[in-house]
Amino acid sequence: MIVRAAIPLLLGLAFLASTPNVADRFGAHGVILAQATAEPPATPPANDEPPSNESPTAPSPPAAVAPAAPPVPDSKVQAPVNVPLPRVPPPQKAEQREARKMFGAVKLPSIGEAVAIGYYPKGCLAGGVELPINGPNWQVMRLSRNRNWGHPNLVRYVKSFSARVAKATGWRGILVGDLAQPRGGPMVSSHLSHQTGLDVDVWFTPMPDRELTRAEREEMSAINLVAADWININPEIWSPKYLDFIKAATQAPDVERVLVNAAIKKELCKTATGDRSWLTKVRPFYGHHDHIHVRLSCPEDSPNCKKQPPITGGEDCGKELDWWFSEKARTPRKPPVAYKPMLLSELPPACKAVVEAK
Ligand SMILES: [Zn+2]
Repeated sequence: MIVRAAIPLLLGLAFLASTPNVADRFGAHGVILAQATAEPPATPPANDEPPSNESPTAPSPPAAVAPAAPPVPDSKVQAPVNVPLPRVPPPQKAEQREARKMFGAVKLPSIGEAVAIGYYPKGCLAGGVELPINGPNWQVMRLSRNRNWGHPNLVRYVKSFSARVAKATGWRGILVGDLAQPRGGPMVSSHLSHQTGLDVDVWFTPMPDRELTRAEREEMSAINLVAADWININPEIWSPKYLDFIKAATQAPDVERVLVNAAIKKELCKTATGDRSWLTKVRPFYGHHDHIHVRLSCPEDSPNCKKQPPITGGEDCGKELDWWFSEKARTPRKPPVAYKPMLLSELPPACKAVVEAK
């Protein structure tokens, strides 16, 4: 499954590298190799890493360098040896540090009113709110990541969505993947977006009838709905209830986009009956074969939240969707570029205050 999952992710990387406007067209939802909430968590955030603007304790010169002192007669005192002190690098400015390490190390939100700042893949979150790890119709997965934080609109949305799913599908509820870190910002693994507390991943696996243990929440994988050809859904796993699940995700005014694999969108286009206007919000993308990604619009209380370009098409079940199955979409044109971590200076200036707030 990991090998199969890697194919569209690699394609996605190459596509992102070669198509600069893809972020605007498809919602700036970037994925990197460690993508997928279904994968076990990558190395946990380096919480214990010393801040690089603190000078480390001056180390002693290595023993091998210091020449062995010649034997000294007891009656004589050895002359002091002039050992050069090790060079201490000048303190690094906070702005030049990797933003993901700073945001990944903070365990709690900043105090104050909730505000989403910046753009989904380049921003942060002040006054984040925690989604409880258990609710009547949801359970949060991968607790070690500490990414069950969001803008209050997002937390409210997850709660109401989970109730809608239970009603529409008969499932007990949903399994929730990543929202954001306590103060949003870039992450050390998995996502390029999810930075402003307005994005959430929800697994395709229905919530079981019992409370999962912490270990299960780390180790379980999500259900993959897509066949090995990456063109169709897997008919042995697919159920019309997934249509109800995805439709329920779109049923809130502040939902801007619900990202799914193109094969899943194709199935929805084929089978949706009645009012199909909700299909407009369902956008095809690489990956997203084992979870949906829901993105909310900028909240009214967040004037510095950068909006996405609006979706201009209709339900987009025609040519736009066909493109995802074309040779062009499926063939990487360039090798993936190396991921360059974002510096704090690249985020909106308000994010420095958010990450540094006590
Ligand atoms: Zn996501």
